Formats: sequence, structure tokens, C-alpha cells
Amino acid sequence: MGSIRKRGKKNRIEIIFMFQGIRRYEQSLYFCETSKQNCKCRDCKSANALLNEIERKIAEKSFKYEIYFPDSKYVHENQQLHLNGDMYFNTYAELWLSSTESSVAYSTFKTYGTAVGKLSSYFSRFKLCEIKPSHVQQYITTSKLSAKTIANYLGSYTAYLNLQSEMISSPKPIQAY
Ligand SMILES: [Zn+2]
Repeated sequence: MGSIRKRGKKNRIEIIFMFQGIRRYEQSLYFCETSKQNCKCRDCKSANALLNEIERKIAEKSFKYEIYFPDSKYVHENQQLHLNGDMYFNTYAELWLSSTESSVAYSTFKTYGTAVGKLSSYFSRFKLCEIKPSHVQQYITTSKLSAKTIANYLGSYTAYLNLQSEMISSPKPIQAY
């Protein structure tokens, strides 16, 4: 669940939401009039409406980060990361990992680092364009992690793979064949 918060003397409203397994904090163009909790001023209403719209689009997988937050650090980082099918998995995973470093807690970053290490040992020989959902399914089956955990680890990579949403959103580990 996302939320909004007010920052600074001007009560600039930030939109907080989960995207690809990472909590994002993005500045809106709105300023709260009161700075109170659960404020109902016009800008707070607008910011909450924006948050709802973002979360709906994320759920529908039609969220375009750069349209909502063109100046976001995330967008700049992702341009460098722009997926290139000839990239080896390891290269991509390391870029992805370093892009998360500034936006997640240190403990989370450590968790991602461990996960990327594990995934890399399995996928390192593949180029991105060679990895098929069946490979990922096989990995999920052989690892002890839940599909959701793996999806979180993989971050935006799962979007590239265009996995079935049921497969990556399943809260339970997928059983072996
Ligand atoms: Zn307000």
C-alpha cells in the first residue's frame, strides 16, 4: 500500500509506492496547506488521487514511470539500464543491483545482493534474450525460494521476461512438476 507524506517547510507532498519490489519516494507538484495527518486540503486530495492512479496502473502493468516522474532518479538510472538483449545476465544483474543501492535500506540492499549472487550463478551463461520463462520456471522449481521472492529479486527483469502475472504474483512456492 502506498501513502503520501509532506516534506520541508513548504509541505511538499511526496508519493510513496511500491514498484518492482522497491519502495519509491517521488516528489509531486502538490503542497499541503496544513501539514496535518489525514489532511483533506485540495492538494492532499489530488496527491491521493495520483497515488491511487499510479497503484492502479502498476497493478494493470501499464505504469510508465517516466510519464509521471520524468525527473526521477529512477528514470535516469533505468535509461542506463535500458535492456539490451545481448547483455549477459550477470552484467544486467550488477547494473540493476547498483541502481537500487541509493533507493533501498542497507539491509534490503544486502538481501538483493545475496539474491543476485544466487541468480547469477544459475543464469550467468545466458544472454538476456536467451532466457525464456521456462528457464525461470525451472529455476523457481529447483530453488527453495517462493516465486514472489524471486520476482522481487529480479525486479524489473521480470517485466522483460514478460512472465505470466499469475506466475510471479503467486504468494506460495510453486511446486515441483
Ligand atoms: Zn493537506
